[in-house]
Amino acid sequence: MTELESVEEFRDRARRWLKDNLPAATGRYSGPENDDVWDRSRQLQRILFDGGFAGICYPKEYGGQGLTTAHQRAFTEESFEYEMPLVFNIPTLSICAPTILDLGTEDQKHKHLTGVLRGDQLLVQFLSEPRGGSDLAGLTTRADRDGDEWVLNGSKIWSSGAYAADYGICLARTNWDAPKHEGLTLFLVPVHAPGVTIQRIKQVTGSTEFCQEFFDDVRLPADSVLGEVNGGWAAASRLLFHERSAMGGTSPYMSGSRPRLSVDLSELVELARSVGRLDDPSVREDIGEARAMFRVRDQLVARVSRQLASGELPPPASSIVRLFSAENAQFQIDKAIRIAGASAATAAPDGTGRQLGIDYLFRNSWSLAGGSAEMSRNVISERLLGMPREFAADRGVPFNQVKHGR
Ligand SMILES: Cc1cc2nc3c(=O)[nH]c(=O)nc-3n(C[C@H](O)[C@H](O)[C@H](O)COP(=O)(O)OP(=O)(O)OC[C@H]3O[C@@H](n4cnc5c(N)ncnc54)[C@H](O)[C@@H]3O)c2cc1C
Repeated sequence: MTELESVEEFRDRARRWLKDNLPAATGRYSGPENDDVWDRSRQLQRILFDGGFAGICYPKEYGGQGLTTAHQRAFTEESFEYEMPLVFNIPTLSICAPTILDLGTEDQKHKHLTGVLRGDQLLVQFLSEPRGGSDLAGLTTRADRDGDEWVLNGSKIWSSGAYAADYGICLARTNWDAPKHEGLTLFLVPVHAPGVTIQRIKQVTGSTEFCQEFFDDVRLPADSVLGEVNGGWAAASRLLFHERSAMGGTSPYMSGSRPRLSVDLSELVELARSVGRLDDPSVREDIGEARAMFRVRDQLVARVSRQLASGELPPPASSIVRLFSAENAQFQIDKAIRIAGASAATAAPDGTGRQLGIDYLFRNSWSLAGGSAEMSRNVISERLLGMPREFAADRGVPFNQVKHGR
């Protein structure tokens, strides 16, 4: 077995390479709401790939670096000051690609993982439906077998960034005679295939990142199935594990950090100074509480990551960090609003408060994106603490006998 480069050597090499190859980050995080960010991210991902810094925790045979989480962490720390392809992180690198790594055939892994790491492919999730996202196994988008092909019909919604992506990982119903969890299959769907119509949705923040897709007789080859036919619930559970890890901060596949996941601490101090309240004791208390929450989150992420990796905790434990991260994001935003006072609503001429107002509008999405906080609580109580399962009238009932609609 060849020995891995030490983390410190790797960090030095990464630091030098970043300085020579990537431009400095420009100001604030430029999120997926800006349409030109996608092409730029593809270029940046390709630069990382050519330089040997793409997919640090992905196996070498699929284009990754075959290194450890510690190497990835070092790279992320070093890359903070540079322009990075951050829109690749969620869901492509940290949710969809790891699911393909876990469940894909060799062909699928070579095609999609190498494509992703080279910057050629962006992947999205087609899970939620207009009738509801939390009851994921109650979905009604269908795929019917026709000879060697599958024919997909239905609609998905809230798909982040779908308009700019190449493939969507789509959960569809393939057996209506089976109970709801047993008749599902996961597919890799080309986003721009004939029969797929994409509509963008405007959010209250002004972003049009969300999409709704309509599938009208979309023909998929047999090798579009990811995992087992009718084994889609187990496959989706793996995907949801990666999603909770990504949202909670334990995913080893994220590369580069996203300064604007919520407000960060130096920003709170700056904010207090800019509104002339840094000496206000109640503001100092707020900043202290915010700092404590961040520290707890970091410790929790470190501990849960370690215990997930060693098998001391089962995969549903990713819900603990997913839940806490959502609570923390909302807590930080609320503290910032308290500190900013009226300027959070009005925005000062220098722009102070403008981003905060947008953060506030986006606040509730932290407890919905990646599965809602209530569902995380259900997972923790039922699957970690062993409490009784929630009642479900449709459990064990063939799906075609379940009453739908209101
Ligand atoms: C920023 C963002 C990005 C997203 N990106 C994607 C994406 O890329 N792809 C995708 O497929 N989806 C995406 N979603 C959708 C997201 O997964 C769903 O919003 C989420 O699963 C909740 O589903 P829902 O909105 O249908 O709410 P509902 O399921 O209707 O739930 C409404 C409320 O009721 C609560 N509730 C529902 N059932 C229960 C229960 N059994 N016990 C207790 N409380 C319950 C929920 O927790 C929630 O608070 C995204 C959402 C956001 C906000």
